[in-house]
Amino acid sequence: MDIDEFDDLKIILWLILFLLFGIVIITCKHDSGDYIMTVNGPVPSMQTGMTLEHEHILVDFIGADSTGYFRWDRKEVITKALPHIRDIKNRGINTFIECTPAYLGRDPLLLKDLSDQTGLNFITNTGYYGARNNLYVPESFYSSGPEQIAEIWVKEFETGIEDTGIRPGFIKIAVDPADMLSPEHRKIITAAALAHLKTGLTIASHTGPEKPAFEQISILKEYNVHPSAFIWVHAQRGTIESNIAAAKEGTWISLDNVRARADLTPGAPNSINWYADRILGLKKEGLLGKVLISHDSGWYDPAKPEGGTFSGFTDISDFLIPTLKEKGLTDSDIDQLLVRNPQDAFTIKIRTLDPEL
Ligand SMILES: [Zn+2]
Repeated sequence: MDIDEFDDLKIILWLILFLLFGIVIITCKHDSGDYIMTVNGPVPSMQTGMTLEHEHILVDFIGADSTGYFRWDRKEVITKALPHIRDIKNRGINTFIECTPAYLGRDPLLLKDLSDQTGLNFITNTGYYGARNNLYVPESFYSSGPEQIAEIWVKEFETGIEDTGIRPGFIKIAVDPADMLSPEHRKIITAAALAHLKTGLTIASHTGPEKPAFEQISILKEYNVHPSAFIWVHAQRGTIESNIAAAKEGTWISLDNVRARADLTPGAPNSINWYADRILGLKKEGLLGKVLISHDSGWYDPAKPEGGTFSGFTDISDFLIPTLKEKGLTDSDIDQLLVRNPQDAFTIKIRTLDPEL
């Protein structure tokens, strides 16, 4: 090889190195942009793994005027919850989204302890639970406008919940299942729209039937919030046609009460087979990318001796996934349901209809 050839080779090698460096930079940028917020801080969305998107560790039904951390002993709750968290860890679950709102037993420090002890990501929330006729909203709610309420939630995201420094990973709200939203519940979804626009936190709303779902979606749109910022919680209570219509607009369809019920015949509403068929129906419409699944299970109840009966979080792994595979879903479809969809849904990102507004 003469000197000229050697120089050419050097130039080509440098060019290849330069290109590789560029690719690495672009890839890293893409990865580091998207994140979810756990009780231990931000985690890149790509690293969340298999996720249960709607579960509970503790729920206290006594009401906003009487609840408080004094109502339970964290160590006792953890002792009760730990075996169930280990069960899901053994099944490959890596992220646990805890949907208990403030004034209903939300306890960020409890979740941080559980996360530290198990290595799972735990995600908590901000927002108010208006369902059950506002039993779980604080007194200050009534004299506040949506802007003031949104401000409280935004502050929790920016500086942490109370003095814990723990930040919420989504907005959890709830409305009653009536055909029309009450003025209070219009206020809650409006506050959620305003808080989303400031934080990029996704809004998960305990809703149920389709009429309040579509009313909330239309209020979000009035505020320029894209339906993909909205999770229709308990969407299994709506018809499949309504699930399809909402998903086509971008709404996340949360089918979240998956349980293997011995009392139900296969195919009966809310049986494992029924859930599998609902998921298949959505897939047929090309909407598998908008479906979220969970158990809505748990939990320690401070009103009951030793917290009452704690139901686990394994029926999706043990019953629903095998049924879905029997019905033709691929490994990639399952990955979409348990990994990619929750990553997308809970990534912190402002989602607007019109970016110009
Ligand atoms: Zn729930």
